[in-house]
Amino acid sequence: MSQKIGFVGLGNMGGPMAGNLAAAGYEVKVFDLVNDAMLGVEGVEPQSSAVQAASDVDVFISMLPAGRHVAGLYLDGGVLDAVSGDTLLIDCSTIDPETARMVASAAGERGVNMLDAPVSGGIAGAVGGTLTFIVGGREEVLEQARPVLEVMGANIFHAGENSAGQVAKICNNMLLAVLMAGTSEALALGVANGLDPAVLSEVMKQSSGGNWALNVYNPYPGVMEGSAAGRDYEGGFLVDLMVKDLGLAMDTAQHSASSVPMGSLAHDLYRLHRENLDAGSLDFSSIQWFYKPELRS
Ligand code: NAD
Repeated sequence: MSQKIGFVGLGNMGGPMAGNLAAAGYEVKVFDLVNDAMLGVEGVEPQSSAVQAASDVDVFISMLPAGRHVAGLYLDGGVLDAVSGDTLLIDCSTIDPETARMVASAAGERGVNMLDAPVSGGIAGAVGGTLTFIVGGREEVLEQARPVLEVMGANIFHAGENSAGQVAKICNNMLLAVLMAGTSEALALGVANGLDPAVLSEVMKQSSGGNWALNVYNPYPGVMEGSAAGRDYEGGFLVDLMVKDLGLAMDTAQHSASSVPMGSLAHDLYRLHRENLDAGSLDFSSIQWFYKPELRS
């Protein structure tokens, strides 16, 4: 088992992920631009730079906001030059596939193995160690990383070569946005025509419109206990992050000359929703308010 881990980016996701690694007995050297982010995680060893966190470790993990931060860290920030050939690099950030490919290939040129391993499961999954990792990179490298990923997650998928993890995550989240918007739209139409949203939800769940949003994440208030809809959409998976992921989907589609009319509509819809209701820090199922603004108290 690898013993020493470097971890950079201790935000909402990275903080609890690094904390879980420390709690599992790994020695975890961490760095974040924000000092308090490092001090808030129990059992880890704060460093004064990313290069220090990457030196003399078996596994180095990053959890950063976007592609420019990842390229900045590994290329301009000197991490690729600082790590030894034995260090395994894992970027868990959700970023554009092009940057993921570029950084992995720069690592490969230096004889260093790298995986892209974006996650789904949100902050609750990061805290509980139940994330899903969607991994791009060589199979044997994933097997090497598996014990570390298993501390932080409950499911690990191998999507393909480097950057395939990012592509799979982007496709999934684009579909999720379409499903959530479509579900909210159908519920609003039913209610406007006299239906009880709970009855309509049950009918659609058991019929051909059944989907994940109806099964576990019903967007209509009062239908599902414990859902974000029941707490005015506070917390959960933020509209800001959905807009970010849909933006990545649009870039990816442009890059491959793919037509994504549904994803494109969902992107516009979520941006309008964010602007109209200042909804960036609400859960993404708050798109229900876009269709039925009168639900807002
Ligand atoms: P966050 O903004 O809370 O945390 C990012 C952290 O990175 C911050 O603490 C910031 O100070 C640090 N940072 C930025 N640049 C740095 C650098 N060069 N060196 C060191 N530290 C640096 O973001 P988050 O919510 O933890 O999300 C991280 C990634 O996970 C994103 O790519 C996001 O899309 C993805 N993600 C988030 C969620 C979620 O629910 N929050 C779910 C799935 C995936």
